Amino acid sequence: MVIYSKFKLFINILNPMSEQNHSFDTRSIHVGEKPDFSEGSKNEVVAPIYLSSTYARKEVKNPGQFQYSRSSNPTRFALEKRYASLEQTKYALGYASGLAAEAALLFTLIKPGDHIVGFDDLYGGTKRLFNIWKEKYNITVSLVDATRPDLVEEAILPETKLVWLETPTNPLLKVCDIAAISEIAHRHNLLVIVDNTFLSPYFQNPTVLGADIVVHSITKYIAGHSDVIGGAIMLNDKDLYEQLKFAQNSLGVVPSPFDCYLVLRGLKTLSLRMDKHESNAIAIAGYLENHPKVARVYYPGLPSHPQYALNLKQTKGFGGMISFEIKGGEKEAVQFLESLELFTLAESLGGVESLIEHPALMTHASITKKEREQAGIKDSLIRVSIGVEDKTDLINDLKQAFNQI
Ligand SMILES: *Cc1c(COP(=O)(O)O)cnc(C)c1O
Repeated sequence: MVIYSKFKLFINILNPMSEQNHSFDTRSIHVGEKPDFSEGSKNEVVAPIYLSSTYARKEVKNPGQFQYSRSSNPTRFALEKRYASLEQTKYALGYASGLAAEAALLFTLIKPGDHIVGFDDLYGGTKRLFNIWKEKYNITVSLVDATRPDLVEEAILPETKLVWLETPTNPLLKVCDIAAISEIAHRHNLLVIVDNTFLSPYFQNPTVLGADIVVHSITKYIAGHSDVIGGAIMLNDKDLYEQLKFAQNSLGVVPSPFDCYLVLRGLKTLSLRMDKHESNAIAIAGYLENHPKVARVYYPGLPSHPQYALNLKQTKGFGGMISFEIKGGEKEAVQFLESLELFTLAESLGGVESLIEHPALMTHASITKKEREQAGIKDSLIRVSIGVEDKTDLINDLKQAFNQI
């Protein structure tokens, strides 16, 4: 069993629960990358990038742990262990993007005629996937204001299969009660999926609150450096895990070993980054709320946020995303955005550098103006992903841009 022992480094961490006694910060550095000194094993401190697409076997009938890298790859295996550990689930799977993970979920869980209840403020790409499934597979979707669990319950039909949540949402940072909605959904035998991208597993663990499946765009805070596109699914149910693993391999929606290495590396500083994103965001949200040229600030860490208490109860933090309405309209918003020097005008979020954007003209431009207005996305709305730069430098940049309008 030469091949088997070669990968002992990864096999000895097959039982992630044994490491769950360590704190998040420790697990984010060590799980999946523990050196192994037993005979025939490797003792690297950092998991290597295993580029091999295929794996040799000594005996025809004895494949060993790895056979073909679409099915399983040692670098990805190490990363999947760490994902499960950090999200506090038994199982995790890595994907080529957040949307690849979401497509694999729909592919696995949804059949023609099924119904989905979702948060009305879900990520636009998720809604686009729902539209594809609606057209091709004749499913139906009800998007409701999930800040009210009673509206989620009202939307449930006999053919409903799952409830799809996101909290806080994008771009309005609405917060929904994961525990209350999971309780309702389970009474109706439905699965609850939570997109946990905005808070990362450092601040929020949806399955601990009662959800069944967590999905992430790894591209954002988890990878954290705006240089990887990736996705993940975490869950506790073995049978569902097997089905999703089958789909991961059948669809081939897997991340490359190099991307897995970048994410393993990025994760080591997740807690440091999230704490800094958050302390910067708290300072900047306070600055914006008191600014005479700002009409309204959306940030779950402000006591003025409508679900401030709920967010405090179900998370360990508020995250680094802020939206605000500038006084005036599109003209003032554009002038402000184009006057910034330190904030980068770009889509995406969760990287170390501060990014800023105009949802109506950028991330949410594919939605009609009428739909945007109904959703509360005004032409004066600006969304900010607060980076980990010095907060005084960031505030000074905002100050000089406000002075231009
Ligand atoms: C970016 C994002 C996605 C999609 O992830 P990709 O990695 O871009 O495919 C899904 N959900 C949320 C909340 C996101 O921000």
